[in-house]
This record gives sequence, C-alpha cells and structure tokens, in this order.
Amino acid sequence: MSQAKQVPRLLVVMAHPDDAEILIGGSLFHLKALGWELGIVTMTAGDCGSATHSKEEISRIRHAEAKAAADYLGAWYGCVGLMDCEVFVNAENVRRIVEVMRTFDPDVVITHSPTDYMLDHEETSRLARAATFAVAMPLYQTRHSSPVKVGRATPELYYADPLEGIAPLGERVHPQFYVDISEQLEKKRQMLGCHESQRNWLRDHHGVDEYLDRMTTWAALYGGECGCEYAEGLRQHLGHGYPRQPLLQEALSPYIHIRE
Ligand SMILES: [Zn+2]
Repeated sequence: MSQAKQVPRLLVVMAHPDDAEILIGGSLFHLKALGWELGIVTMTAGDCGSATHSKEEISRIRHAEAKAAADYLGAWYGCVGLMDCEVFVNAENVRRIVEVMRTFDPDVVITHSPTDYMLDHEETSRLARAATFAVAMPLYQTRHSSPVKVGRATPELYYADPLEGIAPLGERVHPQFYVDISEQLEKKRQMLGCHESQRNWLRDHHGVDEYLDRMTTWAALYGGECGCEYAEGLRQHLGHGYPRQPLLQEALSPYIHIRE
C-alpha cells in the first residue's frame, strides 16, 4: 500500500453481476467494517441471464441490481460492457481493465479463480492478472489512461475459489486460507438478494429459494472444513513480479483459518 493513502482500497474484478456476492460477499462486509474503500467491476451486465426479457432489458435490470447490491455494501460499481459468453483476453480488454484500475487505484485486487466452471470467469481472471501486472508500468498507456502515479505499486492479487470449489475437470480446488463469514452471512444473503431477477427466475423454476440457499449451503460446506459455521476461501498470487505481502490475511486475521 502506498504511504500517502490513509485507507486501503480493494477492487473486485468479476465476470458477471452477482459473482462478487456469491464468492466473497462475506469477506467484503468484513473489510467494509474495517474501513476499506471497496469497488466492484463486472465484465458484463449479465445480458444472457433471463428466459423472458430481451438482452437490452435484462442488461438494464441487472446493471441496476448490481448497483443496488454495491450500494448495500457501500461500494463503487462499474461495468466494462462486454457480452456474456464473450469475455476473452485481448489487448483492448486488458486496456479497459487497466483504465478502471488506474482510476480506482486499488492496493488489492480480487478476481475469479484461474480455473472455474465457465470460460467467462477464467478469462476475467486472466484479464485481471494481466491488468494488475501492467497497471504500474509508465510506458503501458491506453487511450483514456490517467498517467501512472509516481510510486504506483503493483496491487496485491488474490483469487476467489471456483464456484462450489470445483475446477472444470471435477477436481476440488482448496483455498490457501478460509475467512470465517458467520457474522456476515445475513448481510451476504441480503446483498445477493438485491439480484431479484436471478432469484425470482430460479424460485419460479424450482419452487424454492435456491439462489440464496445454494450460496448458504456452499458457505456452510466451507465452514465445516475449517471449524466455523460459514466461510469463504481465497488464494494469493505469489508469482514473480507480484507483491507477496499478506495484506488480506493481516486485515482479516481474526477471521482467518489457514489451510494446513
Ligand atoms: Zn459468473
């Protein structure tokens, strides 16, 4: 974290509206309570998330739901404007994420797992990794880029777990550390509940409140693995060129369970 900053800043880079809530919503409420500045950016507005609306209608609805969810958390929300199932790593999309990062100026970035159940998530993870590496390079310029600040450091990069902790070939992906979110579960449910179009779609289809219940079941499974009621999992990017300070582990230390 740069010396001039008083408050740590976290940017969450996810593929779709509701991914941040499902994967790391409880951890976000912990960080908010600790005074962190939070931002969420999604690659798409969820334009394929409906069986009844047009793409334009559902994009408008889901953008508003994502904004309402971010407001409930107390976070900034932005959308890059790509289309569902068409999130891919290319130079233009790396530039777009760098522009968001140079504006929001995060100390920490959390994105999707490098391996996950759908390609939009994996490609978003790669985009966030590429942009995190490029953001502090003065010679990496984009059309709308703010100038790189003197002393701008590469942000710490963390990965959420793949959905349900399962990689595409079925193998279990274990977190480096768990965050006990038992105190924050109700807020996490409320935040996820802001995505009414998705909740209603599943409820009408299955007859139960599967949207919230499935997330809760998954958090309980993780909690059971680390000896608390509900938990989320995270991993830190530790490769060459990235900072390795355990900023999140230190900030969340009362709630952390390290995987043995
Ligand atoms: Zn998603």
